[in-house]
Amino acid sequence: MNEIEAYLLEHEPQAIETLLAFCAIASVSTDPAFGAGIALAAKFAADQLTAAGFPTVEIIPTGGHPCVLAEWCDTPGAPAVLVYGHYDVQPPDPLDKWHSPPFQPEIRDGKIFARGVSDDKGPLMIPILVAAAYKEVHGALPLNVKVLIEGEEESGSPHFALTVARLKDRLACDLVISADGAMWRADLPSVTVASRGLAAMEVTVHGAAKDLHSGRHGGTAPNPIRALAHMLASLHDANGHVIVAGFADAATPPDPAIAAAIASVGYDAGSYFDDIGANRPDPLPAGDALLTRQWLLPTLEFNGISGGYAGKGTKTVIPAEASVKITCRLVAGQVPSDVIAAISRHLDARLPPGYRMEISARDPGTVAFSLDPALPALAIAEDILTDVLGAKPLRVAMGATIPIGEVFAKHLNVGTIFFSFSTSDEDYHAPNEHFRLSSFRTGQIAWARLFDRLAQR
Ligand SMILES: [Zn+2]
Repeated sequence: MNEIEAYLLEHEPQAIETLLAFCAIASVSTDPAFGAGIALAAKFAADQLTAAGFPTVEIIPTGGHPCVLAEWCDTPGAPAVLVYGHYDVQPPDPLDKWHSPPFQPEIRDGKIFARGVSDDKGPLMIPILVAAAYKEVHGALPLNVKVLIEGEEESGSPHFALTVARLKDRLACDLVISADGAMWRADLPSVTVASRGLAAMEVTVHGAAKDLHSGRHGGTAPNPIRALAHMLASLHDANGHVIVAGFADAATPPDPAIAAAIASVGYDAGSYFDDIGANRPDPLPAGDALLTRQWLLPTLEFNGISGGYAGKGTKTVIPAEASVKITCRLVAGQVPSDVIAAISRHLDARLPPGYRMEISARDPGTVAFSLDPALPALAIAEDILTDVLGAKPLRVAMGATIPIGEVFAKHLNVGTIFFSFSTSDEDYHAPNEHFRLSSFRTGQIAWARLFDRLAQR
């Protein structure tokens, strides 16, 4: 154990106190009622960075909740890394399901319970504590470090990409290391190297100019619900595979290490269906096939459908319109606007005569993220995780969308390594969110080694 690691272990009680204080701030980003908490949390993060030795620390306005930017770059010739995290948290509801109040952090069974402790205040505090240890022990960092902490991650990061684009000269670096993004399973070390993108659209089919009486007009007037249902049913085959021409033509093959990981995790399809409370299909698909579908294949899902009368009882109406909300998870290579265009062409070709269709795609969507499998920093991160966690981490993908990887690739032209020590079983986004004290400790050792190893490159 070197001096930095010894310092971190010796100062663990203070580190825990600091994290508890951070978690006591109710920094819910999505609800304006928590505005004071947002401002306090941004200031708390900035103060910690200043205390850790960062000579430049700034709270940056974004048009929404501010970002905190810190720079400590006085090691010429050494690489520069940008550390990413977020100080905002999910809403704590439902409050009555918490065993201790969400913003009164409590330690039980070796875990800290508080809203935001796992996502992302605990993992975010780790690199700040490591920087502070370097300051106390050596008076300097071994490499150049910038830290960017956002305050809108839990509400869709509406201003983040623009802020990164605007600050791209100040944020220039060789690598982004994200303190956000949980490990996939607590009992299985992993590093996330890919996540799916997202494209969203809304389709409305119009029939008559107004709602009509189904007795007077039934059988003769156009029924947009019937037309829409018919069109939507043509988007998938009987096995749920998307059968839209051009939908996935541009998809590129994933890192072969991910396919190898899928084969080695032994995913249990039966318990998957049990866990979501659905009937087990017969025959039951193989676990590998299920996980491949969640991680590596694109989707087209209906998120909501509306039209006509949906209240209690009966209403004899033929609606004038019907609509559906659709989102697609995308894999590497797929371009959101091209995917929307392919689906639009497919639906347009199947719109029955006598109907009119409107399609809207409000935001530009997000392309999938995939990290260069040959990135040297990835191998270094994997080495360190192997050491501290006792097993070689699997390279995993994520079915969900992590926009930051793509934002940093696009505006800073660098890869993002996800180096978070939270795990997906820690009930983030749910009541009784917690973070393991053992992960807090291991994470500090791992980040100290990561700074050290990256500095030697
Ligand atoms: Zn997060």
